[in-house]
Amino acid sequence: MELSAYADYAVRLVNTEAPGRGTDELRTTADVARLLAAVGRPAARVAESDVPRLRAVRARLRSVFADAAEGRPEEAVATLNGVLAEFPVHPRVTGHDGRPWHIHLADDQAGTAESYAAVAGMGLAVQLTSLGPERLGLCDAPPCRNVFVDASANRSRRYCSERCATRANVAVYRARRKARSAD
Ligand SMILES: [Zn+2]
Ligand SMILES: [Zn+2]
Repeated sequence: MELSAYADYAVRLVNTEAPGRGTDELRTTADVARLLAAVGRPAARVAESDVPRLRAVRARLRSVFADAAEGRPEEAVATLNGVLAEFPVHPRVTGHDGRPWHIHLADDQAGTAESYAAVAGMGLAVQLTSLGPERLGLCDAPPCRNVFVDASANRSRRYCSERCATRANVAVYRARRKARSAD
């Protein structure tokens, strides 16, 4: 796995909550196990205490995305550095399952929440520094406020997903048609 791909850990963790919709999919140990499965990390041992720990990290990572997306890179970096300091990585070269040698950032020496936070923070740091903080984004299709990393060649990404892009386009089309028929 490329280190930059680990930013997906941060994106998926933050997006377990949809503040604009009032939904939250990180409330139980089963939710944590689902999150781990989604990033391809086997759910070794999820403890009850992992839930509040991951929720706390989630709030900090959301503010990294929000500050970066809204032009406050200093704040975004300060928060991210706090996460990196609190959850250090423990890199290890590994070659399991017949795959080529690659780096694992954290192999559950610490608890599940701690190692997840370490990987998420490191992945986000790699993306923020290689692409630039303005490439961290918040979905532009309200009420969705999902976060994403814009790795597009023309720096044009505005939505978290195809679904939100379609929804936003339909809304614009309807508004135009309404404006036309009002003329
Ligand atoms: Zn591996
Ligand atoms: Zn969205």
